[in-house]
Amino acid sequence: MKLENMNNAYANKKCTNNIYINNRYAIEVTRKRIKNMYLRVKDTDGTLSVSAPYGMSDAEIRKFVESKSDWIERIMQEMLVARQLKEQEPVLAPFMERELRRELKMQLQRLIDKWEPVMGVKSAGFTIKKMKTRWGSCNVKSHHLNFNLLLAKVPSECAEYVVVHELTHLLEPSHNARFWSLMEYYLPESKKLRKQLAGFSAQDMI
Ligand SMILES: [Zn+2]
Repeated sequence: MKLENMNNAYANKKCTNNIYINNRYAIEVTRKRIKNMYLRVKDTDGTLSVSAPYGMSDAEIRKFVESKSDWIERIMQEMLVARQLKEQEPVLAPFMERELRRELKMQLQRLIDKWEPVMGVKSAGFTIKKMKTRWGSCNVKSHHLNFNLLLAKVPSECAEYVVVHELTHLLEPSHNARFWSLMEYYLPESKKLRKQLAGFSAQDMI
């Protein structure tokens, strides 16, 4: 085979190798018969892929990718968020969490404003927390209430159940017969709602 033919054979075959930048990005480099370099992030797995002309050195490619690092960071972040939403990983992106917190705060405040006069109780403010095992809690001494951030994800009548439940503790601290009859008095559907709420787990909701 003549040298020229060999070169052509090589040139017609795409070749792919990886180069690494800052131990952070693995870049899949494919050398092709093209004039310019192209960079893209595969939305399937976040792989950075560069198409480069033959003869372009790894150092030149690295320099090119580094010059796009702001763009890469942004795209990677967007993809991470999209992936979390899609796969329902139990990690909330910071902006998602802020948004949930903001909405839940308004919802809980509305419910507290609705129920306090009905029940004749007064709470001393509330905190929204990430809790693993409880939907809410009530400090009967300070009258401060805590609510699980994930209440933002349950049907509003279930969130209402939790608000009435915690406010009922201001009338009856323990889960005794009086407590449950008060609950049923204020929310005739409370048994059903309690069951419904138990059907949600944190994993399902994020
Ligand atoms: Zn309780």
